[in-house]
Amino acid sequence: MPQFAVRLAAPDLRPWLGGNCGIAGAWSFTAPEPGPHLALFALTHGNEIAGAIVLNQMLSAGIRPQRGRLSFVFANLDAFQAFDPENPIATRYLEEDLNRLWGEDRLRGARNSREMRRVRELLPLVESVDVLVDLHSMLWPSDALTLASETDASISLGLALGTPRLTVADPGHSAGRRLVDHARFTAPGSTAAAVLVEAGQHWEGATVDAMAQTARRALGHYGIAGRAPAPLPEPPVLARVTETVTATSHNFMFLREFRGGDIIPKAGTVIAQDGAREIRTPHDDCILIMPTPVAPRGHTAVRLARFEAP
Ligand SMILES: [Zn+2]
Repeated sequence: MPQFAVRLAAPDLRPWLGGNCGIAGAWSFTAPEPGPHLALFALTHGNEIAGAIVLNQMLSAGIRPQRGRLSFVFANLDAFQAFDPENPIATRYLEEDLNRLWGEDRLRGARNSREMRRVRELLPLVESVDVLVDLHSMLWPSDALTLASETDASISLGLALGTPRLTVADPGHSAGRRLVDHARFTAPGSTAAAVLVEAGQHWEGATVDAMAQTARRALGHYGIAGRAPAPLPEPPVLARVTETVTATSHNFMFLREFRGGDIIPKAGTVIAQDGAREIRTPHDDCILIMPTPVAPRGHTAVRLARFEAP
């Protein structure tokens, strides 16, 4: 693994550890005026501290909803507390990825990791959320993007926020369901919406700024707090995942260095080798979504996507 520079300091979350709604690290405020329940999540991955900086700023500023309900959630607090800038990739999670545990089988099953217990703790809150914005950042070079599960409500949310400019409709990972894939947001007939914002590189100041902008736009868009968002200079762009490439061997390798957001013009271009299997682009103008140069077996190595009219 290369060395990654850590240009952000982990925020002091001690004031927020207790929470105010019976769940550690979760703060929830209800306005007298009715309205949707909007939740901003950070630290779903414990080392993605940019999101924690943004929520710390918003909580410190005393932002309260003028209608509906507004929740701020620091998800994987235990992993965050183990964050070490000398080894920043070590604390994405402690025992297992908190963002693969949101399927009903796991929620109701016998699995009992620290992350699984935390997910069960957060579940009652998640089940009351109408709009969820989960703030993430990325390890490998990539353009910023918003991942939405494939429901109309979630895709519309990504496009309405419009920053990052690209929203990708994405069915998720074979390794398990993400928070945004939870039944609250994906069950047939559900109108609740959820997006996962990949705002930039993990430990860069620009990522904090991008996340803060997205969070403010979400609050304004739903009339929860602040002004309605101003129109963006460029219209939003939509793409849909056409293939999720999961590493099936121990030696998955891209044929060259790719950056997330790269577009491969020709269908059938070989982009990676997975043991004996060649990975080819399934169509022209194939967008590479978050290629992961070091993809362990069973993990997503890259998603392939195609532009679509919004
Ligand atoms: Zn993440």
